Amino acid sequence: AEAISVLRKRCRLHVSGQNIPQPLTSFEDLKSQTGYRCKKYIRNNITSSGYTEPTPIQRQAVPTLLARRECLACAQTGSGKTLSFILPILMNLKKHSEDGIRAVVLCPIRELATQTAREFRKMTKGSKIRVRALTRSMCLDPNIKDLPIDVLVSTPLRLEKLLKHKKLSLDKVEYLVMDESDKLFEMGFVKQIDTIVEACSSPRVVRALFSATLPDSVEELARTIMVDPVRITVGEKNS
Ligand code: ADP
Ligand code: MG
Repeated sequence: AEAISVLRKRCRLHVSGQNIPQPLTSFEDLKSQTGYRCKKYIRNNITSSGYTEPTPIQRQAVPTLLARRECLACAQTGSGKTLSFILPILMNLKKHSEDGIRAVVLCPIRELATQTAREFRKMTKGSKIRVRALTRSMCLDPNIKDLPIDVLVSTPLRLEKLLKHKKLSLDKVEYLVMDESDKLFEMGFVKQIDTIVEACSSPRVVRALFSATLPDSVEELARTIMVDPVRITVGEKNS
């Protein structure tokens, strides 16, 4: 317990919530620390990306999401938040499935969705996991339901439109990530997000918010849709 608090202090990690998983000491210790196997393709992709040590937010968010705990994660821009949700999602999905979309990542703007999908693909090299950013042409595809997709990255508007027209089902979704959530809410996507949260109707779904800042209003809103979340902040809350 002493070592854990030293590690958190060194990384300026602040946590709150019940039964919080311990922070990762290293990528090599993923399996021994969390009990979840990290497939070889993932380990290879971490290495070939040049990532030697997890960043502070990754140390705490990865084991939290692996344990299927909902979380509010706040760390400054450039601190590696993307990999914080990519790793646990890939470790839990394990391989491609024909059953439908199992993870959704919401981004405030399309460019970020494209970037996030690209980061996912870097980590899925060597596996058959299918990651797609929701494009305009996909939205027009009458067979969109049958596209093989494991992870879908989208803006709230595009995804909500598809749901409204019943062109897509999210009832197999196990991870719903709201990235840059302060912006998502500031930009007024509350209604769209509500629809998407409702569509992710599986009892297994884990919701997570990632953000550079966590205004009280966003945290309050988030807590209305989350079950027993872990709050993780690196450094000062709204710096
Ligand atoms: P954020 O979403 O917090 O703004 P990103 O996820 O975009 O940050 O990551 C910022 C940069 O850090 C990216 O270029 C990414 O490749 C790099 N990065 C992520 N994780 C690590 C790591 N463990 N070690 C070194 N670099 C990393
Ligand atoms: Mg980011």
